[in-house]
Amino acid sequence: MQINTILQYLESIAPLALQEAYDNAGLLTGCDNWECTGAICTLDATIDVLQEAKAKGCNLVIAHHPILFTGIKQVIGKNYIEQALIFAIKNDIAIYAIHTNLDNIAQGVNKTIAEKLGLIRTRVLLPKFNTLQKLVCFVPISHASQVVEALFKAGAGYIGNYSEASFSNSGLGSFKAGENANPTIGNKGIRETVAEERVEVILPFYLQKKIITALKLAHPYEEPAYDLIPLLNENQSVGSGLMGELAHPIEETALLTLLKKEFALSVIKHTKLRQKPVQKIAICGGSGSALIESACNAGADFYISSDIKYHEFFNANQQLVIADIGHWESEQYTIDLLFSILTTNFPNFAVLKTSVDTNPVHYFIGNNNY
Ligand SMILES: [Zn+2]
Repeated sequence: MQINTILQYLESIAPLALQEAYDNAGLLTGCDNWECTGAICTLDATIDVLQEAKAKGCNLVIAHHPILFTGIKQVIGKNYIEQALIFAIKNDIAIYAIHTNLDNIAQGVNKTIAEKLGLIRTRVLLPKFNTLQKLVCFVPISHASQVVEALFKAGAGYIGNYSEASFSNSGLGSFKAGENANPTIGNKGIRETVAEERVEVILPFYLQKKIITALKLAHPYEEPAYDLIPLLNENQSVGSGLMGELAHPIEETALLTLLKKEFALSVIKHTKLRQKPVQKIAICGGSGSALIESACNAGADFYISSDIKYHEFFNANQQLVIADIGHWESEQYTIDLLFSILTTNFPNFAVLKTSVDTNPVHYFIGNNNY
């Protein structure tokens, strides 16, 4: 199997088009037409992980964080990034990063955290705008269901937890075929009037090409008439963070204890407890200070994330409790997510989880006996 086959599958779940503008997700080293000898899932493509990949015969490293993130002008081994790149290229190892595109889907990084805490009624905390389009097309009634079916199959018609959403009404379409036309209905030079359906479906922008191709293939006319309209709607399935609820409210210390257990934490940094029960929980795996305000606005009792700076903790403002559980710690189950995505679709293929602990942050707990 070529590396490309694996990457195409990953991108059908977490399209590269959904990554943030500052990000660098995608294939970073290697060629997608290489035969894949095995894949290893990790948060970071450090040299230790690349050495592990080589030792275990895997020429594809699937990492959450892009090791090549900002522009570099030299690759001379002067830091851990350049050393990793040199090792990967010398040893024919492909590095693929699946980063904010995996953060921004409802079934991505944050879902793994929500599942560990048993959250229900989950939804994207800060949905993205400008990612949806409306397709309106005009189809002779005889072919309307065939066209709608083809549009659904290509990925149109998803609204939140609903699929196959469309609207249609009927009317009369007219056209006059020109000299070089090859009309399906009627004759050249004579205006034709046909009973047509006006079909409307919603689609994500990155599927536009695929869906228009499907429309043209399923539509009986030589020149199907259609409109593509950008929408201002929010996309409920795409965006940052996740909001969810515990089935029953619990004490704040019970939640902190649960976090310690489920994420194997030795310590949690948090703002002052409010002495109120917790039910609504906002989460953002990785650096999440940008979502504190959204968590407050969403009425969360608790916000679980990482990389919160001193002054940013003040933004809790007694409206909620901010808990910083550590960057690696918050994203650790992303490795299991990638492993499960790949093994489910490629059951007979060698997929591994790294056994290297790439967390660069360590905590000294001590025993107070000094
Ligand atoms: Zn991260």
